[in-house]
Amino acid sequence: MPLKFFNTLTKEKEEFVPIDANEVRMYTCGPTVYYFAHIGNLRSYVFADILRRTIKYSGYEVKQVMNITDIGHLVSDADAGDDKMTKGLLREGKELTLQNMREMAEFYTEKFNHDLERLNIEMPDGQYFASDYVAEDIALIQRLEEKGYTYKTSDGIYFDTEKCADYGKLIGKEILEWDIEGARITQTGEKKRPIDFALWKLDSKLGYESPFGKGFPGWHIECSAMGIKFLGEQFDIHTGGIDHIPIHHTNEIAQSESATGKKPFVRFWMHHEFIDTGGNKMAKSEGNFLRLDTLIEKGISPITYRFWLLMASYHTKMNFSFEALEASEIALKRLYRLYNQLGEEMGKTDENYKQKFKERIENDLDTSRALSLLWDLIKDENILNANKKATILDFDRVLGLNFSAQGGPVSGWENEPIPNAIQLLVTERENARKNKNFQKSDALRKEINDLGYEVKDSEIL
Ligand code: AMP
Ligand code: ZN
Repeated sequence: MPLKFFNTLTKEKEEFVPIDANEVRMYTCGPTVYYFAHIGNLRSYVFADILRRTIKYSGYEVKQVMNITDIGHLVSDADAGDDKMTKGLLREGKELTLQNMREMAEFYTEKFNHDLERLNIEMPDGQYFASDYVAEDIALIQRLEEKGYTYKTSDGIYFDTEKCADYGKLIGKEILEWDIEGARITQTGEKKRPIDFALWKLDSKLGYESPFGKGFPGWHIECSAMGIKFLGEQFDIHTGGIDHIPIHHTNEIAQSESATGKKPFVRFWMHHEFIDTGGNKMAKSEGNFLRLDTLIEKGISPITYRFWLLMASYHTKMNFSFEALEASEIALKRLYRLYNQLGEEMGKTDENYKQKFKERIENDLDTSRALSLLWDLIKDENILNANKKATILDFDRVLGLNFSAQGGPVSGWENEPIPNAIQLLVTERENARKNKNFQKSDALRKEINDLGYEVKDSEIL
């Protein structure tokens, strides 16, 4: 079965064939390092990690590059508001200098990488600070300038979207028209159209020297310049959260394709949904966020968070709650216990199960169904324990749940009481059945199954 991914650009699930048969080139929009990453941000990197591991599992080499945004990202994506790094320095009571910016960036990058490690995320092949590639940004802006895609205002150099006939193809025409009317992006300064965006922002006090004057590159140009530098003028995959579709990635496409003349800049644009807490968007700038450390303080392991994310499709918006994570922790521990019971002997991967696993994971990263298969396998009495063990470790090359780190057999688990969280779901389901709400009762049965427990109905309603 071929690899298939949903491509935001075509809005279809498409067969994935890399440009270069030997190596898949992939760019992951990295963090803006003015503060700690929140667990919503971290979904982005678990998603990219599953994608990277799946591609490798399918037999390809992967070259993955990630930027670290340490300059130029304004609080609003639409060229308004303050610079996020400046905001970070002010918060920390530090003087506004490029050196302090860099030090702060290195501090939060280290924290970020530690989070990646604890989530069992494979490090990208290259991770680059935007501030080290300002010369590349300038060169790209000059290329655009020479081709007539730019104009000057009193505060910087802007990309003239009117010159780019297919601007907005990532979002679609309808939304674009709505944007132009100003409902989404408001007109600021001297821009010709509200959707025009800054390539270079002038700043007489702090910034880098350039032919356009002292200042900072825009956030979008960083990703184009670094993508082109490390992966070429056309590459296979670009990842990020869905918030990047209307502005950041739309602008990346416009400026990259206009500068190089090559289309498409990227073959597959892949975006994951958000994590919400209590119905609100979790945002670093709002301060209403949870870190991986917050979960650890509450006794929840980072791998549980990873496992919880994998229980849903990356296209699903997930509502965070501690109850949901606690239930996931129960399920994961149960999986570990069952795995540990399989004994010491290592057998062979079961080809039948492997095939099914591939079908699921290669089908737009269906991690939820891949996890169901893991439960089926672990409970399948027709497979030898030693072979189960080998097959689980094979699946774990993609899932990254750390099975290989599990210890020896644990006994007595059969007699453990059913956890409260599961009991509550069972009661809820019984009530749904009594009220003849079979849709809800089926959904609850699935939820219970996903957590590793089975409900057997004794009484016919
Ligand atoms: P930033 O550090 O703000 O540049 O964001 C890093 C990544 O996190 C981007 O790919 C965003 O799309 C993603 N992101 C931001 N907030 C959330 C959220 N609440 N849930 C999921 N992803 C998010
Ligand atoms: Zn980016």
